[in-house]
Amino acid sequence: MLAFPIKYIYITQTFNKNVHNGIDIRGQNRGEEIPIYSPDDGTIIAVRNDYKTQDSSGNSYGNYIKIQHNNGLVTLMAHLKYNSIIVKKGDQVKMGEQVATMGTTGHSTGVHVHYEVFKNNEKQDPLLYTYLYPSQQVDSQSAKYVKTIPIIPSVDKNENSNQIKININNLKVRNEAGLKYERIGIVEKDKYYNFYDEKKEDNYDWYNIGKNLWVANEGNSITVIRKREEEQIEDEITDYKFKYVVEKTNTYIIKLNEGETLYIK
Ligand SMILES: [Zn+2]
Repeated sequence: MLAFPIKYIYITQTFNKNVHNGIDIRGQNRGEEIPIYSPDDGTIIAVRNDYKTQDSSGNSYGNYIKIQHNNGLVTLMAHLKYNSIIVKKGDQVKMGEQVATMGTTGHSTGVHVHYEVFKNNEKQDPLLYTYLYPSQQVDSQSAKYVKTIPIIPSVDKNENSNQIKININNLKVRNEAGLKYERIGIVEKDKYYNFYDEKKEDNYDWYNIGKNLWVANEGNSITVIRKREEEQIEDEITDYKFKYVVEKTNTYIIKLNEGETLYIK
């Protein structure tokens, strides 16, 4: 579940296997050089930053960046602005972190990003793996191509439930506790979720917020709020009053009101 590499998505060309092995995207306004963001957490595996020209022929990416993501996917962003790449090979990046600026270097006819997704070294249709996140906007013409990331519904704050509060944007929800498991959606910043189970896995504390829904506390991405313990009531029985009647025998008969219980030490 990659994010798009730019914040406003206007798709100018879609995927066509062996003809156009990626999608072309520009921002809201034609010609604007906008930031390019990493589509997911990952490691930079290739960078070209010194290509100065726009060529009308050939098959050149111009300046590009290639990122290996933790889920096995690789992304590539091409035609980047000369000398705009702000990461280097080997760097770790987070989803949504700026890595470069859009440009029109290489085989390009205007400012846009050519975006590719590889799985097992094969070029895939990026639109099958890439989702619109809450911080992103899609042009109405492009909306028909674009899937929106599922957002897990939150609940009201409730001190009688074990809850987590989410402190960051786009915190991933997986179908099991562990980084290797599939991401199936996100939870929203500043919202509350009940949790029903917790586990330690891959050095993170994981919280179960529903059937097959797990989130990890990465850094301070989550605040854990445990429900109040139930108060003890033993001490409240100090002032117990009851009615009794002494009969003309040596036996005391204690009459309780209906529903009352008398404990004798
Ligand atoms: Zn392209």
